[in-house]
Amino acid sequence: MSDAAGIFERITIIGAGLIGSSIARAVRRAHAADVLVLADAQETVLAEAKNLGLADTYSSDVAEAVADADLIILAVPVGAMASVGAAMASGLKAGAVISDVGSVKASVVKALSPVLPDNVHLIPGHPVAGTEQSGPDAGFASLFDDRWVILTPPEGADQSKQDALSAFWTKLGSRVEIMTPEHHDLVLAITSHVPHLIAYNIVGTASDLEEVTRSEVIKYSAGGFRDFTRIAASDPTMWRDVFLNNKDAVLEMLGRFSEDLTALQRAIRWGDGDALFELFARTRGIRRRIVDAGQDEAAADFGRHHEN
Ligand code: NAP
Repeated sequence: MSDAAGIFERITIIGAGLIGSSIARAVRRAHAADVLVLADAQETVLAEAKNLGLADTYSSDVAEAVADADLIILAVPVGAMASVGAAMASGLKAGAVISDVGSVKASVVKALSPVLPDNVHLIPGHPVAGTEQSGPDAGFASLFDDRWVILTPPEGADQSKQDALSAFWTKLGSRVEIMTPEHHDLVLAITSHVPHLIAYNIVGTASDLEEVTRSEVIKYSAGGFRDFTRIAASDPTMWRDVFLNNKDAVLEMLGRFSEDLTALQRAIRWGDGDALFELFARTRGIRRRIVDAGQDEAAADFGRHHEN
């Protein structure tokens, strides 16, 4: 028996994409399960996962994949949670922990709670780690190292199951925080969802410009634009689902963003250099705090590594 004993012996991950395959790799690296099962809707994705040797067994039938599992992690787009939950419900073992990695939490709780049997434990989660890439070959074992995983257990959740899930993520290298789903959605709206929307918007605007050609946009993209394009290359299905499912918090944060943008517009129009300088100095301080907190590296050029 592996040193997973006491946490979860049999783990099923549904969704073999960037996040699901990274969890599989991290589970293997940490010897955090005796048996690891990987499920995905697509046979081609499963074949790729198999080629990469990510799990012990593979299945495209989720009810079959979850049989006897102690922990099931749904790593599918937020919009697919309800249908995957319903499809696996009949195969779940009593006492199993059901978690997920969705980037939105209140809507996932709403989608999964009604379709799961009463004798399992729903403890949703969100690893605040990722890249702009998708699919099984995009994943890597160290993705969650020193990154936060936010768990959003419903009121009255079994404390021992919650502790076990925290211990599991800690074993994978993460730091764990507990929040309500609503608070999670508000925090992530400003730290992740609105920044992605801004990136999608600025890259869309640039590609629509008529006076500046598209080839010039690409040729001279060494400035900030290049970094927006990285974010705007993120998975379209995943991000469509994020905005459809975190509507209220995103609209609230967008309202504030628009007000602050109007203030910046006014400062530029009236030549208010002090206002601009004060803001830019404050934002530089935020960057320093993120680096100090170990959430990014201080290397120049946004962490890109260059030869010599
Ligand atoms: P991904 O690479 O596209 O992987 C998602 C996988 O789920 C794909 O293989 C997809 O198959 C599969 N899938 C979709 N619907 C399914 C269904 N009904 N049944 C079984 N499998 C299904 O996406 P990802 O980036 O790993 O994202 C997965 C989840 O993690 C999302 O909820 C996202 O919000 C969350 N998340 C993402 C990041 C990030 O940076 N990417 C970070 C934190 C959390 P197909 O390709 O055939 O559709």
